[in-house]
Amino acid sequence: MAQLVAPLSFFGSYYRQIQKGMVDMEAMFELLDRQPNVQDAPDAGQLVVTQGAVAFDNVTFSYGSSAPPVLRNVSFSVPGGGRTLALVGPSGSGKSTVLRLLLRFYDPSAGCVRVDGVDVSTCSQASLRRHIAVVPQDTVLFHDTIRYNIRYGRTGASDEEVEEAARLAHIHEAIVRRFPAGYDTRVGERGLRLSGGEKQRVAFARAVLRRPAILVLDEATSALDSMTERLIQESLASQRCRQQCTTVIVAHRLSTIADADCIVVLDGGSVAEAGSHTELLQQGGLYAAMWRRQLVAGSFSQSTEVVHAAA
Ligand code: ATP
Repeated sequence: MAQLVAPLSFFGSYYRQIQKGMVDMEAMFELLDRQPNVQDAPDAGQLVVTQGAVAFDNVTFSYGSSAPPVLRNVSFSVPGGGRTLALVGPSGSGKSTVLRLLLRFYDPSAGCVRVDGVDVSTCSQASLRRHIAVVPQDTVLFHDTIRYNIRYGRTGASDEEVEEAARLAHIHEAIVRRFPAGYDTRVGERGLRLSGGEKQRVAFARAVLRRPAILVLDEATSALDSMTERLIQESLASQRCRQQCTTVIVAHRLSTIADADCIVVLDGGSVAEAGSHTELLQQGGLYAAMWRRQLVAGSFSQSTEVVHAAA
């Protein structure tokens, strides 16, 4: 367990204190289950997920009973069935807090979070989290083989399934062509050091292998070059991956989420606006201003500029 490392930004400072948290959701939840913020009700049911619909219903939340709310009457929904929801907004607007509530690290002070129409506070945390995979911003790997690191997403997966996940995450070619012992190459501190982008792709492969109903990407493409980012987006859009799971993305780089089915723009803990990329550009509000700023800053890939031109 001590070998598992990966700070997950949305867990916040409490979890960062666990210095070098976990690469894996289940292992991570063992830690999280010890924290006192949320208790399962004695009669908590098992959440059954079919569509992966996610809804926030008038959610208000404070980090402490005397603290001011950091989310106020937040409502949005994504119907599941392979749709993508993106959360954007200025720093401190509440994006990570939304993820924490979705994963039920906390319960709302008012309102409720639903998955497939079920209030998640009525379900066991384990049954909720079984359906969710997270690709964090920063993944640190086991000191073991690359195959082991990917298979950790689903320990019963076959070698073929591990390779398929690696292909979807666009890391397969690197593994077979550049890694000295292919899938048996040891990685991590005492093995082959992977770049930040390679580690993110391993995290993608691991998450894809889990076959989650809901895939959470928390700044998950920040270390990827724009070409790889685009390729992974195409993978996520493919039948084998995104069609089967709802994707919830937090991104600062708006190029990552321009094709999301719904973009929710948070500002100061409230939903400032929501819609598709095109709708939000037409509204000329906060999202349009953020988009313009990022264009001016030149942080967009060429392919994204094409999206902009078409909008
Ligand atoms: P960023 O883009 O910088 O990651 P964010 O939009 O994800 O920001 P959050 O991390 O959700 O924003 O923070 C929303 C508000 O809640 C901020 O004012 C932040 O200071 C506060 N906050 C976040 N985590 C905690 C915590 N564990 N305890 C108390 N306040 C917190």
